[in-house]
Amino acid sequence: MSSVKVAVRVRPFNAREVSRECDGIIEMDGNTTIITNPKQINDNIKSFNFDYSYWSIEVLLTVKASPDSGDQVLVTVTASPDSGDQVLVTHRRPSLPSQERVYQDIGVEMLDHAFQGYNVCIFAYGQTGAGKSYTMMGKAEHDQEGIIPRICRNLFQRVSNSNDIDAQISVEVSYMEIYCERVRDLLNPKNKSHLRVREHPLLGPYVEDLSKMAVTSYEDIRDLMDQGNKARTVAATNMNETSSRSHAVFTIIFAQKTCDPVSGVETEKVSKISLVDLAGSERADSTGAKGTRLKEGANINKSLTTLGKVISALAEVASKKKKKAEFIPYRDSVLTWLLRENLGGNSKTAMVAALSPADINYDETLSTLRYADRAKQIMCKAVVNEDANAKMIRELREEISRLRDLLKAEGVQVEEDGSVIYSNDRHKAQELRNNAMNQSCTEETVNANPAEPPSAKAAVHQLQVNEKIMAELNETWEEKLRKTDDMTFTPHLVNLNEDPSMSECLIYYIKEGITRVGSAEANIPQDIQLIGLHIYNEHCIFENREGVVMLFPNEGALWLRIDLKKEMEKRLENMEEQFRKEKEERKKEYEKERQNYEARIDALQKQVEEQSMTMSMYSSYTNTEELNTEDDIYSNPLFEGEVPWTERDYQLAATCFQKWRFHQFTSLRDDLWGNAVFLKEANAISVELKKKVQFQFTLMTHTMYSPLPADLLSSASSSSDEDEEDALHPTSRTVVAVEVQDLKNGATHYWSIEKLRARGVGQYHQM
Ligand code: ADP
Ligand code: MG
Repeated sequence: MSSVKVAVRVRPFNAREVSRECDGIIEMDGNTTIITNPKQINDNIKSFNFDYSYWSIEVLLTVKASPDSGDQVLVTVTASPDSGDQVLVTHRRPSLPSQERVYQDIGVEMLDHAFQGYNVCIFAYGQTGAGKSYTMMGKAEHDQEGIIPRICRNLFQRVSNSNDIDAQISVEVSYMEIYCERVRDLLNPKNKSHLRVREHPLLGPYVEDLSKMAVTSYEDIRDLMDQGNKARTVAATNMNETSSRSHAVFTIIFAQKTCDPVSGVETEKVSKISLVDLAGSERADSTGAKGTRLKEGANINKSLTTLGKVISALAEVASKKKKKAEFIPYRDSVLTWLLRENLGGNSKTAMVAALSPADINYDETLSTLRYADRAKQIMCKAVVNEDANAKMIRELREEISRLRDLLKAEGVQVEEDGSVIYSNDRHKAQELRNNAMNQSCTEETVNANPAEPPSAKAAVHQLQVNEKIMAELNETWEEKLRKTDDMTFTPHLVNLNEDPSMSECLIYYIKEGITRVGSAEANIPQDIQLIGLHIYNEHCIFENREGVVMLFPNEGALWLRIDLKKEMEKRLENMEEQFRKEKEERKKEYEKERQNYEARIDALQKQVEEQSMTMSMYSSYTNTEELNTEDDIYSNPLFEGEVPWTERDYQLAATCFQKWRFHQFTSLRDDLWGNAVFLKEANAISVELKKKVQFQFTLMTHTMYSPLPADLLSSASSSSDEDEEDALHPTSRTVVAVEVQDLKNGATHYWSIEKLRARGVGQYHQM
């Protein structure tokens, strides 16, 4: 039994925190981390102990400036000259401990365990921007690489330095992303759809069809890693910064086969190294009053909240508060399900909690420290995975033959190629029934307890799954290596989509032989079908002869070299220019309006003054005392009956009203605030239902030249009299509308707020 190793790491202040002049609230003294509550004077200090504490902030030494100090230290004066008599001088020390320090403490120990044949896991936790990815992946620059590249490089270094020449080493890597409880293969962008997570009675949870790439050198891994990181970034840009909301899991399967020279007995040790960059923890708080009850939040956080629950439950088991370990909710999320062994099971596990040093992040930082504090209580029971593969293959073989026998007894025969033969009609009928039943059947079929007699359909299915796994396990490492080479080094074309903003990371492979490029309309089917203004039905042909690719353009086919970046910049510039012009125009218009109003108000003022003048003149002609009685007011000719409004009076009143109406932007703000929750819900439901539809607010202005549709306008006015409304808004009317982007069909619709609010779950379904 060993406990989870926990490290805390404070990153330097970032530009935002510096510009906001944030105070530091974290202190570290040896292995003790102290956090100060900036908002509370009393009871404001909490302290925690962890296995490792990393302080990466430049140490600020406060010293009195001594002009005659001859020391050659690099100093920066941070106080302004008028800050009083005390001048603060900061002394910069190189930031220690660096990436190397973290690796030496945590990475090396974990790699040692991997060589011994243990499963290992390192995961990084913390709010977005706290340094998780920096810790796990780091940057490509010298000395900035994170734990993952260092472990990979070191692994191969150690293998090549090893004296054990008889040892056979095999390394396979996979890289996946979990977002909204779905798994995406980062090493195989061809595989666009999400992968299924299954559980096998013998193998436990696994991701079906996840690419496992065989590698022979650090450079191989680095290339795959770069490819995966790129796929991750591309997806993140397409889906509004998902990378902070998704979990990235990099897995290395490291197997060492040795042969005892004396006995000739072969043993194989296998270690699974799981390196996990978790989603930003700030969204994990489902109890927070930030509207996280919304489905989007709930789903994105499912893995992270469940991880929290699992860690808490395991901590309770360890501290004997809870007796049974059975109630650990591993199965409640994809992440915890897949990492089950790493959390309190067969694994050596370490966690790095990434922290911001700044006072503005106090709440998140404290919650990260508490999380880390719980994690360190978890006990894991790691065992060396010796001959796990051989054992697995044996067990699988037994399971397969058991299932075959069972089916045979039922009159069902499964051929080598997976086809099923039924020897009597009763089973055909049964099969039809099962088919109907199994339409809604998911992973549960695979989860079926092997001790229970499965239905024929389930047994056939189970058999097929087993044989697939078996084939994978039996595949020699050389075969796997060849596949990886094929995938990685097949010549390919990247991102040919004509609209760069629509591009997913499209990769078209140029296979051996002929690859035709053209449009869908071509008579001969085209291998790569493109849509675009200049794309001919049969545009060109690639010929790949043993890795040498030749391009043969068809007659007249255009080959423009478009510099996408330049193109985008040009468009951006144009848009900025247009925006600037429109702003200028608006300003002029506004200025004109303003002058207009001021003139009118002046006129109004003048008139009021004239009237009061008339009044006072009138009163000076009459008896003042009499005028003070009510009767006299009514007999006053100025107030006779209803006050008659002159044309000018009407005009002035209308102007005032208009002016008031033009301040309607405050009501726009109310519309935005009041309906944000519906918008968020709509987006959440869209994600939940896997609709490629996005909702966002937009402001639309009704003008004579760009009239708004009636349903949008009606939301702007409660009056049915259009003319009257138009008269009140002589220039324009602006409403809050909802832009509905149908990404699948490339269409954009505009909805009124009312429509958004009226739409229930059912209608989103039909979208
Ligand atoms: P996260 O993955 O937690 O959202 P990142 O790892 O992307 O955060 O870190 C945010 C920024 O802070 C990055 O620019 C990163 O380079 C920088 N950073 C994080 N940790 C450190 C550190 N220990 N030393 C220097 N820079 C860091
Ligand atoms: Mg990150």
